[in-house]
Parts: sequence; structure tokens; C-alpha cells
Amino acid sequence: MRYGHRVLRADWSSAEARWTVEVEQGAAGERRRFSCRFLHLCSGYYRYAQGHRPTWPGEADFRGTLVHPQAWPEALDHAGKRVVVIGSGATAVTLVPELAKTAAQVTLLQRSPTYVVTLPARDALAEWLKRHLPPMWAYRLVRLKNIALGMFFFRLARRRPAQVRARLVGLVRRQLPAGYDVATHFTPRYKPWDQRVCVVPDGDLFQAVGSGRAEVVTDQIERFNAGGLRLASGRQLDADIVVTATGLQLNLLGDVAFHLDGERCDFSQRMAYKGMMFSGVPNLVYTFGYTNASWTLKADLTSDYLCRLLRHLQRHGLAVATPQADPAVAPRPFLDFSSGYVLRALDQLPRQGAAKPWRLYQNYLLDLLTLRHGRLDDGTLALRPAGPPPRG
Ligand SMILES: Cc1cc2nc3c(=O)[nH]c(=O)nc-3n(C[C@H](O)[C@H](O)[C@H](O)COP(=O)(O)OP(=O)(O)OC[C@H]3O[C@@H](n4cnc5c(N)ncnc54)[C@H](O)[C@@H]3O)c2cc1C
Repeated sequence: MRYGHRVLRADWSSAEARWTVEVEQGAAGERRRFSCRFLHLCSGYYRYAQGHRPTWPGEADFRGTLVHPQAWPEALDHAGKRVVVIGSGATAVTLVPELAKTAAQVTLLQRSPTYVVTLPARDALAEWLKRHLPPMWAYRLVRLKNIALGMFFFRLARRRPAQVRARLVGLVRRQLPAGYDVATHFTPRYKPWDQRVCVVPDGDLFQAVGSGRAEVVTDQIERFNAGGLRLASGRQLDADIVVTATGLQLNLLGDVAFHLDGERCDFSQRMAYKGMMFSGVPNLVYTFGYTNASWTLKADLTSDYLCRLLRHLQRHGLAVATPQADPAVAPRPFLDFSSGYVLRALDQLPRQGAAKPWRLYQNYLLDLLTLRHGRLDDGTLALRPAGPPPRG
């Protein structure tokens, strides 16, 4: 593992059946090259260099501190300050209760609400099982329970959106003081799981709002001014610190410039194979998790699949694995999700296909079967030994 190395470029040579990876190292930006047979990208799903940052009129007039969570200044002291957090996603709902512990006042300013669900920070069943079973058994059972519950609620939300919506909003109402305007601040316009549902541990967000240490304001920003923000409703939100928790820029491949035999590879023109490789791109596996379950479940499956593939290549004296595009398979958008960060990036993402093995099922059990136990040599993944590729 090498820290402080940023991958800039990766070149595939068919003749050598190898990737050459160009890296920038350290503060001086020294360039280095590595070469490898196989590339596995675990570069996350958003641009690390910068987040999504809309601009508003009057920002230059603001006399306080403006912060994006992706570039949080280590020395920022929010104790005793008035803080406005713009946004209603996972970042905002995570930050607000934490900031509210010492800030004078925290305001979560959103254009529209998100589904927010409380889960216990400590899992009572897990604690009980750990006391009574060997650790690995307890872990496996709890993991299974969490996966099954997650899948059950997702399916229920898709099949009975009205009931699930009423239930989720009802649960929020029970955690806030009587008369709180749940309809305005915690009732989204979209159906549950059209966008990711936010989970808050032990209802910390609702506790912060209920105690008055935090407030939710649903409004539009008209402009910044010296003291804070002027809203479309005419209300003024005074602030010492404004946090723009306005989201991220989806970025599948770590801003690495990929070339295949000298030609720039445009991934928006490729089809994703099993949600982890690309049509026509040899020996490249990327990691992209679930949008409807724990992200890391698919990350685990991807690593398992890669290990199986490497073992298979080794056992059969093969070196190159390339998904072969199938023109008969109709392309579909990579993600079926209405979140802003997804919609903003859809045209840069690869496509998925309408049928196996090009389709992204977003279903852990199905993926578990196909990725752990399905055939590697499935007729779509072309496998060949090292050396120059066959002609034609
Ligand atoms: C606010 C928020 C809440 C979330 N909550 C959950 C949750 O509850 N459950 C869940 O499962 N997931 C959640 N996620 C998703 C979470 O980000 C992922 O589950 C997890 O971080 C993915 O791990 P990863 O290792 O794939 O990617 P990351 O954690 O994103 O790591 C990617 C790494 O690659 C490095 N990198 C990128 N490009 C390059 C390059 N060119 N060269 C070198 N290094 C590079 C980055 O510096 C980084 O270290 C949340 C995300 C956010 C933003």
C-alpha cells in the first residue's frame, strides 16, 4: 500500500497484455510509473478533488466562513457559533446533530425534504448474540438479518409506496414535539427509495431539532449578504459559518485518464459488465456499490469475483479477460435513481444493458448467486493467454 500516490493515467497495451499506470507522488508531484497485469479500481464513487458546489448571488458579501464538507478546515471552531448547513442529504443529517452539540444554533436549510429513518446506534440483537454465540456465528447472523431486513423494506417501499411513505413520515412525527410541521420539513415529494433513504443513529437529528438546538428550514436561497442568507420567503438567516452540504460529483474511475493501445477510452460509450467491468476493456475491474442497500455489500462481491477470476486465469494459463460487447443488448441508463448527483452525471456514466450479464439488478441475493457461483467463462467474457491478441 502506497500513500500519497495519485493515479493520473492508465494505458493498456494489447501486445504486452499489461497496464502501465502513471502516478503523481508527494507534494512535489513527482511522476512515477507502475505496470501490472490487472487493474482493480477502488477509487470510490465521487470526485475527491471537489464536491458539487452551486453558487449563489452575493457570496462575496458574506463576512462569515463558507465551508464545503469535502474540504473541511481542520481548525474550524464552530463552538458557540451560528451555523447554517445547506442541504438535506446524508452529509447534512450527519453534520447537524454533531455541530449542534456545541454550536449556538444550527439550521438545516433545505429546498425539499428527504426520508429520514431512525435506527438504534447499538443493535440489541447483535449484543445478545455476541454474548451467547461464537463471534463469527454472531457476526454472520447479524449480517444476514441486516441484509434481509434491508431487502424487505426496499421491496415493500417499491410495492406499497403510499403505505411505506405514511409509515416513515409517521415515525418522524412521533420523534418530534407535538404540532411540529412534519408535512413541510420531513415529507418528501418523491416515493421512498426513488432516492437513498437517510438513516440517523438513535434519532439524533430529531433530538437536536426537538430540543431547539437545531432547526429545519425549507425554503429557497435568494442571496447571501454580509450577515448570512436571505431566503425567498423574505426570512433572514444570520450565520457565522455556512456549510454547503450540497452533494458530490459522481465519478466512477477516480479521474484517471484511460487509454487502450494509445486511444483515449470514453467510458460513456461502454456497457458495464456485471456492474464491475466494461465492454471491450481488458483486465479492469471497478467497485461500485448498491444504491438501495449498504454500498459495501457489492464492494465485497466485486472483490470476491475478482479473486475468482484471477484464480481461474492462473489455473488455465490465461492472462486477459475482456467482456465482449453484444450489439443485441439494448442500452439503459447506468442508474435508475432520481437523486441530483446521479442525474447530473448520467451522461458521463457507462450504460447498463437490458439483459444479463449487462444488467445491474441492485439485488444482493441475485448478485451473490451469479458473482460467487456463476460461470466465469460465460460466453461474454473473452479469455485469452498473454501475448499479442489474435487478429481479426
Ligand atoms: C455522507 C455519506 C454517507 C454514507 N453513508 C453510507 C452508509 O451508511 N452505508 C454505506 O454502505 N455507504 C455509505 N456511504 C457510501 C460510502 O462512501 C461507501 O460505502 C464507502 O466509503 C465506499 O468505500 P470505497 O473504499 O469503495 O470508496 P471510498 O471510501 O470513496 O475510497 C476511495 C479512495 O480512493 C482514493 N482515490 C480516488 N481516486 C484516486 C486516484 N486517482 N488515485 C489514487 N487514489 C484515489 C480516494 O482518495 C479514497 O481514499 C456514504 C457516503 C457519504 C458521502
